[in-house]
Amino acid sequence: MSPTLVIRGARVLDALAPEPRPAVRDIVISGDRITAVEPPGDAPAGAKTLDARDMLAIPGLVSAHYHSHDTLLKGCFAPMPLEAWLLHAVPPNYPQRSREEVRARVLIGALEALKSGITTLQDMATVHPFDPAEVDTIAQAYDDIGIRCVLALQVGDVPGSRPLPFWDEVIPPELRSAATVTVRRGGSARELIERIDGERRRHGGKHPRLTWALGPATPEICSEEYLGLLAELSERESLRVFCHVYESKGNTAIARQHYGADGGSLIRHLARVGLLNERFTLAHGVWLQPEEIELVARAGAHVALNPASNLKTRSGVAPVRAYLDAGVKLALGTDNSSCSDAQNMFQAMKLFALWAGEDGEQAFAAATVGGAEALGMGEDIGRIAPGRKADITLLSLRDPAFVPLNDAVRQLVYSEPGRSVRHVIVDGRPVLENGRSTTIDEDALYADVERLMPELMRDLEQIRARNERLLPYVAEAHRRTMALDVGLDRYRTI
Ligand SMILES: [Zn+2]
Repeated sequence: MSPTLVIRGARVLDALAPEPRPAVRDIVISGDRITAVEPPGDAPAGAKTLDARDMLAIPGLVSAHYHSHDTLLKGCFAPMPLEAWLLHAVPPNYPQRSREEVRARVLIGALEALKSGITTLQDMATVHPFDPAEVDTIAQAYDDIGIRCVLALQVGDVPGSRPLPFWDEVIPPELRSAATVTVRRGGSARELIERIDGERRRHGGKHPRLTWALGPATPEICSEEYLGLLAELSERESLRVFCHVYESKGNTAIARQHYGADGGSLIRHLARVGLLNERFTLAHGVWLQPEEIELVARAGAHVALNPASNLKTRSGVAPVRAYLDAGVKLALGTDNSSCSDAQNMFQAMKLFALWAGEDGEQAFAAATVGGAEALGMGEDIGRIAPGRKADITLLSLRDPAFVPLNDAVRQLVYSEPGRSVRHVIVDGRPVLENGRSTTIDEDALYADVERLMPELMRDLEQIRARNERLLPYVAEAHRRTMALDVGLDRYRTI
């Protein structure tokens, strides 16, 4: 197949063998794949060329944990404990949103991601109330902007406040119905699975850059029967599974209080229901005990770390060094816009490297090959190499972050905030050129968001007013959680 695009004269950085000053190469693309990475030569006739002299080519970054549903709430909240944040931010608190708002929020999140060099998002999207037309809107928005996405509908089947420690004890009964952070659904676990998988089958094959996965939100809000059925479905259809596990001390308290049959361990619980395997990615993984880290490593499961949101929700510091030492497969995520508050893998990489006390190579690997493997795309994305999908981010080296160029990967992780992203190619197609989207009208999108915000802000004000009554009780529940001995402390250890 003849070349369709040649990226000429870029320094190509490989996550598995990074050179301090990467060699200058031409990257030859045919259709959606890279066919050659070779010393600079003449441009082949007929192919489009992209002059990438003085640029660094990196594999498109992979955010292995993200939610599109609250991208319009960036900047709305001060740091607060996870359990209080849930009451402000998650969709079950809000009335159903308009199609326009859903489209705008998917696009603005994806646009921010592309502008910071992300080419693949793992979106655990909450669709509340459940509505197939909203799923259509999400999938169409991803198609239109041109980013790659692994979409998992985030669903649990245990309603109410039981999954939150001490809430049922401290929140007065008359306020308890308001204190829900989960999606309530009628019907059996089997019917729920049928509904979720129905969406996957309905959309199957229609979207070239969209793949489907399963998203049990957290083990605590999922029944054992539902998790077991998801494990069967994952096995049968080779589907990836993404799940928040041990994000906060609160999650850990629930594990100790309600999972006695599994020795108080969510990891043992996940293993028992058949989910803990190489198709499973646990998001966050802050509060695992050493023996649980070993179980994750042995199962070949992945961990997607989210340092920025963990710090902003006061959830603690994940044991990155212990994960690296145990050989756990690590990926990185950018998480919700209302608790990180940026779709920016440069921030995630830097925090990861600082947590782990490492020189940047592991952070870059987690943001590329590690994410690709977690998403089941280890053969296709994550590296710039012949045969791989052409998902490439080009950064200007004529930027103070890279001048002088002493060590490309270290400067990428420690110096570069995302400012120098110039061009982004997904599936062989430039979707960002000179920092501007080629696929959507950015200014029209910004205008749409401005127009849609008053209604969202009115709803948020009502939620804030409701929460004012709830938060003193949530604070008391938090105090009790903090006082609990769960056998480890992720506020003190790195
Ligand atoms: Zn999340």
